[in-house]
Amino acid sequence: MPSYDVAVIGGGIAGCASAYYLAKAGLSVVLFEKGDIAGEQSGRNWGFVRQQGRDPLEIPLMMACNRLWQGLEAELQADIEWRQGGILYLAGDEAGMAKYEAWLEHAKAYRLDTRKVTGAEAAALLPGMARDWLGGLYTPSDGQADPLKTTRAFAAAAARLGAVVHTRSVVDALETAGGRVAGLRTEPGEMRAKTVLLAAGAWSARLLRTLGIDLPQLRVRSSVLGTAAVPEKTGLGVWCPGFGLRQRRDGSFTIGGGSRVDHQIGVDTLRHFAAFWPAFKTSKNHTSLALGRHFLDDLRVHLDGAHLGRQLRRERVLDPAPNRTTARRCLRAFRATFPEFRDIEMATAWAGIIEVTPDELPVFGPVPGIEGLLVATGFSGHGFGMGPITGKLMAELIAEGKPSLDIGDLRLPRFAERRAATGRAV
Ligand SMILES: Cc1cc2nc3c(=O)[nH]c(=O)nc-3n(C[C@H](O)[C@H](O)[C@H](O)COP(=O)(O)OP(=O)(O)OC[C@H]3O[C@@H](n4cnc5c(N)ncnc54)[C@H](O)[C@@H]3O)c2cc1C
Repeated sequence: MPSYDVAVIGGGIAGCASAYYLAKAGLSVVLFEKGDIAGEQSGRNWGFVRQQGRDPLEIPLMMACNRLWQGLEAELQADIEWRQGGILYLAGDEAGMAKYEAWLEHAKAYRLDTRKVTGAEAAALLPGMARDWLGGLYTPSDGQADPLKTTRAFAAAAARLGAVVHTRSVVDALETAGGRVAGLRTEPGEMRAKTVLLAAGAWSARLLRTLGIDLPQLRVRSSVLGTAAVPEKTGLGVWCPGFGLRQRRDGSFTIGGGSRVDHQIGVDTLRHFAAFWPAFKTSKNHTSLALGRHFLDDLRVHLDGAHLGRQLRRERVLDPAPNRTTARRCLRAFRATFPEFRDIEMATAWAGIIEVTPDELPVFGPVPGIEGLLVATGFSGHGFGMGPITGKLMAELIAEGKPSLDIGDLRLPRFAERRAATGRAV
């Protein structure tokens, strides 16, 4: 039976970057991806690589990550369309500006190059907008990259260093013996591994549940559109009320619906209702809820653990239809904001399933009770930019026993600890 130092579950950016840095550290690594590399979130996102607007816990991680991004094309020997063009958030009213100003205090504490801009400065950074903004927040050192190319580049670089990458290969189950990881049951066969890193995105909670481990994680759908190509307008990643945009190297715009998402009510929605309630309250104006057939399918998976393997094969790549209403609304808002693009067409639209945690922060590190099992998941809609540092920190944790940055507050037991401390599900 093949045997490895580390088995990585998931060929998204978290898994592929981890496989790369683990192989670079000299460990024998195998990675399993049930579909294609970057087939789910990591190949469907906007491509923003931002330090701006992050939770304070993530700022030092993203500042270190930003330095990695700057050398990533050389490191991976690949064109990933990295561009350090800055990120600009725009606000139309006092409440929006107040939020940005409050966040600026965190940026100052970390000496990040974020600054407040006036409406006139925003217009100078991004000329040709039809509406006047009250102002915004601007981080020149932020950037963008092509999601698919970046994730594939990590997988290819890992393979060049000897990592074995299995695609179209479902991991059905983790085997444990005596309280520690023993190996994996996978589509290509059984494997032995001393350490398993679970980086399975929207599937992580389901896999953990088969081991009796609870990770509060819900899924939301986020829809995006791509326009026809036009001459270069901006190298900024822009976020304004209603939509966000970046212009790709081929001249097309990727436009997303801001924080507008759809959630299909499932068994976990009910199980984790109390934990997610505070986050839902703040996002309810841009979260659509639906109750349908999905609930029954989900119930079946919950009641029958063996059903998960079948579901993983059936839903080999989570490829939801985009919300066309959201996409059309974004296009209208974009055209109205930039009159020079009033006739621009939607060339394509797609959606991705994002996994969110109650505090909208990732989960890093060991899984208590199962020695040798670690997680890197729960990125809550902003894990692409964090991909490189995720991989580096996971590799340090596994190879050296200690990461170079503090990720203690992002560990899995935080949810259970908060629940115990407050008596409430958090
Ligand atoms: C529309 C959209 C826009 C976004 N915009 C941004 C952005 O601009 N910037 C940013 O930083 N983030 C953004 N994100 C979030 C970002 O894409 C994710 O946080 C990040 O890609 C998560 O990476 P991951 O590797 O954890 O998960 P994924 O990319 O989802 O990868 C997990 C992989 O695990 C595989 N897998 C699961 N279970 C198994 C199994 N049992 N066996 C084998 N394989 C398995 C899946 O097939 C999947 O490919 C966006 C997301 C979406 C959907």
